[in-house]
Amino acid sequence: MSINSKRSVKCPQCGQMSEVTVWNSITVNDSPDLKEDLLSGGINMFRCASCGYAALMPEPMLYHDSGRKLMISFSPTNEAAVRQQLFDNIRKSSRESGELQKLTGYNLRFVTDLNELLEKILIFDNELNDKVIELIKLMILSQDIDKSEQRVCRFGKYENGAIEFMIHDHIENRIYTSSVPEETYDRLFNSLMESGVKPYSFDWEAVDGTYATRLLNGFNNHF
Ligand SMILES: [Zn+2]
Repeated sequence: MSINSKRSVKCPQCGQMSEVTVWNSITVNDSPDLKEDLLSGGINMFRCASCGYAALMPEPMLYHDSGRKLMISFSPTNEAAVRQQLFDNIRKSSRESGELQKLTGYNLRFVTDLNELLEKILIFDNELNDKVIELIKLMILSQDIDKSEQRVCRFGKYENGAIEFMIHDHIENRIYTSSVPEETYDRLFNSLMESGVKPYSFDWEAVDGTYATRLLNGFNNHF
């Protein structure tokens, strides 16, 4: 069930009070329109009617797509220590509440960045696996290793037998694209599965660049 509440928010720029509808849970089945709003950046955004200031509300949100057996927990934060704490908390509470047993066959993802959340939704909507996508992103960024720190690579689209990635360079302030044939994806998917990685979760997972680095270094998720 999709759940919202109203918040009175004071604009940090001009002080004007506004009422904002905050969504803490979005269930795709009963709210496809909310999913569209989310993908177009209209969910949990504070927009001041008086001065135009806009910012993401610091609110957690659970995204649930039962058709795809996908659940994404989004907890916005930029701080690594807070991120780790939130991740530990969700793992612990899911285990203790017995929720995990009800989510057999699901992919459970933990993200802290809005773009990461939107990217995950797109990846799964394209019936791709984000573990493979993260590996490919790592490979793309490592082609220009000197610049990998200043670049962010994101899934773009999947069409005509190719997967396109967007590479945003923060120093050069440019966006590049890079295309990977689906055969490369299929080959990587098969080798990952052969190495013991599962296409579903046994617990909440943070599938990001760090995860992909660990995979490349030969550490599987031990399942
Ligand atoms: Zn304002």
